[in-house]
Amino acid sequence: MGTDPAGPNDQKGQPGLVSAALSGLCPRCGAKTLFAAPAALAAECDGCGLDIMALERGGRFVGVVTMLLALVLILASMGVDEWLRPPLWASFLFWGPVTVGSVIFGLRFYKTMWVYHQYEERAE
Ligand SMILES: [Zn+2]
Repeated sequence: MGTDPAGPNDQKGQPGLVSAALSGLCPRCGAKTLFAAPAALAAECDGCGLDIMALERGGRFVGVVTMLLALVLILASMGVDEWLRPPLWASFLFWGPVTVGSVIFGLRFYKTMWVYHQYEERAE
């Protein structure tokens, strides 16, 4: 449940997780402090001192998510190769950045979702 970001409109109460993931917004104060690196969470929020590491604890599916994402991309790239038969350099030029970008965004999105979920559970 709640894994589909583009999903039903009944989740409008939650301010865009996508933009939160893109900008790395702290779930408590909304500062752009959630990520210390493109795909690595900060230890705590510089704005409000929220213990992000403690919230992240238990997010053990990150590896699985990355693997699935990589698998999908590899299959997609094989499909495109089969279909268009691009020169090798074109494949690398295209799939390199696409793979890196997707994995980073996937991780960011997943971690943001996880941290927000944990934050909400604790708030209750
Ligand atoms: Zn904060």
